[in-house]
Amino acid sequence: MKTLILSDIHANLTAFEAVLSDAGSFDRVWCLGDVVGYGPDPNECVALLRQQPGLRCIMGNHDAALMGYIDIHTFNEQAARAVAIQSEMLNPESRDFLELLDIVIEEGDITFAHGSPRDPIWEYIVNSHIARDNFSAYQSRICLIGHTHIPSIFIENPHARPSILTPQHADRWRSEKRFILNPGSVGQPRDHNPKAAYVIWDDEEDTFLFKRVAYDVEAVQERILALGIPSRHATRLSQGI
Ligand code: ZN
Repeated sequence: MKTLILSDIHANLTAFEAVLSDAGSFDRVWCLGDVVGYGPDPNECVALLRQQPGLRCIMGNHDAALMGYIDIHTFNEQAARAVAIQSEMLNPESRDFLELLDIVIEEGDITFAHGSPRDPIWEYIVNSHIARDNFSAYQSRICLIGHTHIPSIFIENPHARPSILTPQHADRWRSEKRFILNPGSVGQPRDHNPKAAYVIWDDEEDTFLFKRVAYDVEAVQERILALGIPSRHATRLSQGI
């Protein structure tokens, strides 16, 4: 079976559509949170995500903020402004979808959490210290996360700090060890590569294939500016930051 693993779509429909058409055939879709926030198309992204086969999706900090579950003032000013604009745009169907998202899912050999297994909404796993402290916070072999918008793998090492990989396009990962894997962001990559990021997991080979795909960034930037969302959320898309 092939699983399309996505995270941080961030209301960027153009990037999301590019990923779906680039991914080829897949049997199911797993989404690691932040479907909304920052971009211009929250309802369209939720609607398209809901149509995907075998969908499992968890809640991210932006999803929670749009639903009013967390204080908007915990965001920086420009992120909070985007949340406020999108919150008014959300239709009842999108609200129903976001409302029912789990914070953490454990399924078989895999745990899903947006930020980290010990602090799923907020914590960023950005270094080996934080990764090490999280390996004891879940039981399964594999943990899938998002939130940093950077494709990465943290590999458990019982006798030392975890090692870190930052996979590039077409890199394939396979391991018997425990690891935490981040597919990167569909709608707002932050690894200085503006192309949308995603992963395909082939569970027969047990391989995780990292992929990047270009999309029409300018079209998204125009829609962001037309909605009055802070211009930084438009300009950063062409820089991948
Ligand atoms: Zn995010």
